[in-house]
Amino acid sequence: MPAIEEKQSRRPLRVVIIGAGPGGLVLAQLLHKDKRFAVTVYERGTPEGDGHSLAGFRILMPPATFDCLRGQVDREVQDLLDRAVGLSQPQGNRTCLMDQYCRVKYRSDTTEQARSMHSISRWKLRKALLHNSSEFVHFNRQFERYEADENGVRAHFADGESIECDVLVGADGAGSRIRKQLIPNSTRHDTGVTIIYFKAPFTPETEAMIPWGSGGMVLSPRKSMVISYFKNPEKPYGPYHLENIDPDDSFLMVGMGCYSDEFHNQSKSPDDMTPEELKDECLARAQQWHPLLLSLVAITVPNSVFVARIKTQDLIDPWETGSVTLLGDAAHSMTPYLGKGASSAIADAMSLAETLKLGSEIPLGERLAEYEKSMLKRGFADARSSMLVHHLVFTAGNTPWRARLRNMALCALDMYFTHPATLPEPFPVRYSKEFKQAKQKNKKNV
Ligand SMILES: Cc1cc2nc3c(=O)[nH]c(=O)nc-3n(C[C@H](O)[C@H](O)[C@H](O)COP(=O)(O)OP(=O)(O)OC[C@H]3O[C@@H](n4cnc5c(N)ncnc54)[C@H](O)[C@@H]3O)c2cc1C
Repeated sequence: MPAIEEKQSRRPLRVVIIGAGPGGLVLAQLLHKDKRFAVTVYERGTPEGDGHSLAGFRILMPPATFDCLRGQVDREVQDLLDRAVGLSQPQGNRTCLMDQYCRVKYRSDTTEQARSMHSISRWKLRKALLHNSSEFVHFNRQFERYEADENGVRAHFADGESIECDVLVGADGAGSRIRKQLIPNSTRHDTGVTIIYFKAPFTPETEAMIPWGSGGMVLSPRKSMVISYFKNPEKPYGPYHLENIDPDDSFLMVGMGCYSDEFHNQSKSPDDMTPEELKDECLARAQQWHPLLLSLVAITVPNSVFVARIKTQDLIDPWETGSVTLLGDAAHSMTPYLGKGASSAIADAMSLAETLKLGSEIPLGERLAEYEKSMLKRGFADARSSMLVHHLVFTAGNTPWRARLRNMALCALDMYFTHPATLPEPFPVRYSKEFKQAKQKNKKNV
C-alpha cells in the first residue's frame, strides 16, 4: 500500500467500516476523535434497531475488556457504558451446569475471573456506542461489494452510491459480504442446532426463580436450556406485564436449544412459526423437566422471541494483506455457548484501532498483517473453546447413556476443583455413591 502511505502523510486516513454491531461501533468510537482519521460507518439497519431482535439481549464481558474500552472513550460515553453493566448477585456471576431435574453437575465458581464477568445489556451498549455518532454512522445503507487496487478501495452500496476509502473494515457480522469477497473459498459450518431465545419479566419473584442465583445451563439428552438475566442498575425490577419487554428494561433470558430437525412441531420450519408457536415448542420440550424449569419457560413473553440457527466460521488462514480487513463475527463467528462473541469482536476493534494509530515508522501494510494474524489466532481460539462447549452439550449428550456418562464426567471435574465454601448451594450437587465416597476421602485428606 505505498500509495496510501504516501497520501496519509498529507491527509487523514479514510477508514470505512461496514456494520454498526459492537465491533464496528467500538472501532469508530476509538478513531473518530483522532484527527489522523476520517471514519465512517455504514449500517444496513435503522437507528432504532429492532427491540425484539438480538439487539435487546445481553452479552458477557470480562471486566478487563470493559475497563480498557471505557478508558479510551469520552466521559459521556463512559457514563452510558456504566449504565449498560447489569447488577450482579452478591456472590458474583456464579453459574452451574445441571440436568433437566435441576441436579447440579458442575459449578463454574472456582475462579475470580468467572465470577467477575459483567452482564451487559446489548441494547444499552449500542446506545452508548452510538452517542453523538450522527456525523460518522449512516443507517439504511446496505453494502454490496468493493473494488480494490493499490490506491485504495471503493465500496458499493445497494442504493447505487459508492464511496472511496483507504481502509475498508468488514464488521458486517457472521454473514459478512466483505469476507465472502475477500476470501471466496471460506466456509461456515452449520451445527444443526437452533436456539429459541425468550425474555421474561424481571421481578423479585422471577429473580428468585433463577437457578443458582446467576443461572446456568440445563443439559438434557439432545436438548439444552440456558438461563441468564440483565438487571438494570437504574430500574432493577419491572415491567410486570406479560406482553412486552422494553429493550431498556431488566429481563430474565431463557434459551432453548435442540437439533433443528427435531422440533416437536414438524408442521413448519422454525422461521415460519409465530412467537406463540415457538413458545409452545419450548413448553413441549420442558414438559417432563423439573417444574422450576417448566415455569421459567411458561413466564416468557412470546413477543421477545429471537431464533438463532447456530453456524460457525471454519478456520481461515491469514489472507494477503491489502486495504480490506475484517473484525469480529465477520472473521470468526462462533457458537454462543461461552458468551464470548461480542467481547471478542470488541477486543478485535480495540486491537485494530491501536494498530491504525501506531506511528508511521512501521508501514501500514505490515501493521495490518500483524493485526490480522493475531486477530485470527485469538478469535479462532475463542471459537474452538465455544465449539468444545457445543460438543459437551450436544455431541456428548446425543443419547441418554452418553448424557449420563457426560454428566458423571462433569461431576468428577466439579469435584476436582475447590469451590468457595462460604457460598450457599441453592440446589444439591448430586454425586454418585462412588463419587461421594471419593469426595469425603478427599476432604479428609485436605
Ligand atoms: C442468540 C445469540 C446470543 C449471543 N449471546 C452472546 C453473549 O452472551 N455474549 C457475547 O459476547 N456474544 C454473544 N453472542 C454473539 C454476539 O452477538 C456476536 O458475536 C457479536 O454481536 C459480534 O459483533 P460484530 O460487531 O462482529 O457483528 P454483529 O453484531 O453481527 O454486527 C454486524 C452488523 O453489520 C450489519 N451488516 C451486515 N451486513 C451488512 C451489509 N451488507 N451492509 C451494511 N451493514 C451490514 C448488521 O446489520 C449488524 O448491525 C450471541 C449471539 C447470538 C446469535
